[in-house]
Amino acid sequence: METILFLAHTEADGTLARAALESLGAAKTLTTSLTGSTLVVGLVGADVQAAANQIAGCGATHFLSVAADAFSQARYASDVLAIEALSKASAATIVIGPATSRWNRVMAGAAQRLGGRIDTHATGITATDGKLAVTRWYYRQRMEGVLTRTQRPWIVLLESGCSAAYSGNAGTATLKPIAIALPELRTTVTGVQAPAADAQTIRPDAKLLFVAGAGWTKKQADGQAHADEAEKLILGFLGKAKASLGSTKSLVDLSGEGQAVLKFMTHLNQIGQTGATPRHPKGLATCCHGEEPHTVGWRFINERRAINLNAACSWAQGKADVLYVADSFAVMLKVNELLDAKQS
Ligand SMILES: Cc1cc2nc3c(=O)[nH]c(=O)nc-3n(C[C@H](O)[C@H](O)[C@H](O)COP(=O)(O)OP(=O)(O)OC[C@H]3O[C@@H](n4cnc5c(N)ncnc54)[C@H](O)[C@@H]3O)c2cc1C
Repeated sequence: METILFLAHTEADGTLARAALESLGAAKTLTTSLTGSTLVVGLVGADVQAAANQIAGCGATHFLSVAADAFSQARYASDVLAIEALSKASAATIVIGPATSRWNRVMAGAAQRLGGRIDTHATGITATDGKLAVTRWYYRQRMEGVLTRTQRPWIVLLESGCSAAYSGNAGTATLKPIAIALPELRTTVTGVQAPAADAQTIRPDAKLLFVAGAGWTKKQADGQAHADEAEKLILGFLGKAKASLGSTKSLVDLSGEGQAVLKFMTHLNQIGQTGATPRHPKGLATCCHGEEPHTVGWRFINERRAINLNAACSWAQGKADVLYVADSFAVMLKVNELLDAKQS
C-alpha cells in the first residue's frame, strides 16, 4: 500500500501545464494498479484553486496546498519548504511530479530533507504484481534502465511526453492549506530573459525536425558558398513551419574552423551519436550526408525524408523513407513560396 502524492506547481496563469497533467495521469494509473493505494494532490503557487478545480475529478482523497505570493516564483528557499511540508502532511511514500526546470532544481534537495531517494529524468513508473519500477534512459537513450527501490519516500520526476495527460472532469476541489514559516527571502525573480519565440530554434513539441547539414555552407555549382542565402531559406522555413532545427556535427563544428557558418546554429542543435536524439513525428534532412553517427540520433523520428544532390548519399542506404535527389536551395525556396502562398 502506497500513498502517492502528485506534486505540481502552477503556471503564471494559475493553471497546470501539460507536463504536470501528464504526471498526474501517470500517478493516477499507478494508484489504480496498486490495490489499496491512495492518491493525494499537492499544489504550490500563488493561488492554486483554479489548478485544483482543473483536476477536481482525479480521484484524490485530499487536495493539499501551499499558496501565497511568495510561491508564484521559482525560488529554492521557498520551494524546498513547500515540497517538504506537502510530502510530510500527506505522509507520502511515493511522490510524482513533472520534470520542469523548477522542480528539477529543487527536488533533490527536498528528497535529502525527507530522508528519501529521488530519480529524475524518469520516463515511466509502473506496478507489476505490487512491485514498483521506474524506467529511464541511459547513455544517450541507448539503454533503458528499470529501477526498483525499497526506500521511502521515493520521489520521481517524470519527463514530458512519456505519459498520457490527465483529462478528467473539472469541478470544485476543497483545498487543505498547509502553513509554512518562510525564512527571510533573499532571492527575487525580477523578470525572465528569454529569446523571442521565433528566435528559439529548438522546439521539442514541433511536428517536424528540420536538419541542416554542412552542404548548406559548401561551394555550390557556381563555385561560390551561399551561407547568407542558406540562412534566409532555413530561418524562413522555420518561421513558417514552426519546425525544430537540428544540425549535423560538421556544420556546428565549422565555426571553429573559420569557415562560412550559419550564425543561429549552436552545438545544442546537433543531432546524433554525440548530439541529441529528439522525438518528432517527421524529419527532413537537407544538405546532410546521413552518416551513421548522425542518423543514430534519428531513431525516434517516425517518418524520414532527405534532400541531397548525391543519389548515393548515405540516406539512400535505407536510412530515409524518401530521398529527393535535388538541390536543397532550390527545393526550400519553392517550399517557402508555397508556404507563403498558403498562409497569405
Ligand atoms: C565519434 C564520432 C561521433 C560523431 N557524432 C556525430 C553526431 O553526433 N552528429 C553528427 O551529425 N555527426 C557526427 N559525427 C560526424 C559524422 O560522421 C559526419 O561526419 C557528419 O554527420 C557529416 O555532416 P554533413 O552530412 O553535414 O556533412 P558532409 O558529410 O560534408 O555532407 C554534406 C552533404 O551535403 C550535400 N549537399 C551539398 N550541397 C547540396 C545542395 N545544394 N543540395 C543538397 N545537398 C547538398 C552533399 O552531397 C553531402 O552529402 C561523428 C563522427 C564521429 C567519428
